[in-house]
Amino acid sequence: MAKLYFRYGAMGSGKTIDLLKVAYNYEERGQKVLIFAPAIDNRYGVGKITTRVGLQRDAKILDKSFNIYEYIKNMNQKIDCILVDESNFLTKKQVTELSDVVDFLNIPVICYGLRADFKQNFFEGSHHLMEIADKIEEIKTICECGAKATVNMRFVDGKAVTQGEQVLIGGNESYKAVCRKCYKRYINYSPK
Ligand SMILES: [Zn+2]
Repeated sequence: MAKLYFRYGAMGSGKTIDLLKVAYNYEERGQKVLIFAPAIDNRYGVGKITTRVGLQRDAKILDKSFNIYEYIKNMNQKIDCILVDESNFLTKKQVTELSDVVDFLNIPVICYGLRADFKQNFFEGSHHLMEIADKIEEIKTICECGAKATVNMRFVDGKAVTQGEQVLIGGNESYKAVCRKCYKRYINYSPK
């Protein structure tokens, strides 16, 4: 029976590399995979997903109105696995559609994404995946202190920030994955 997977990890944990590895393994066996990526993050150009180590490949880019279930149902082609990059940017409805792909079309779906934003709040897509996925798996990476990194800290002009929109496109911000304790140190937090 097919399952819905959510593999989450902080920035730089190698989620997209893992996705490409899974795609390669299916295709090596002569099986067909579909790769989706929500459109909101177009840093690397529409139509491609790219990793920090330079690997890239084509992906179907989705906007928020795209119905994933209808698209796959109407493809009339045998699909063995669906892979979703940056699944944190999916809408709640699109996560439900992916669960319908699993339950009604019997195709496994593996979603990769961030758990939470730089303010430590869920993304819409990750939130619903955490609620309904059959299997939730963490892809780990390390903070500069050696602990597990869980927070995607946002820097603007070199300074850690705690305010701002959840998604910025084309801004001068950058990100660093750190542990929660280091995050509190960076933002000069103290318990009240
Ligand atoms: Zn740390």
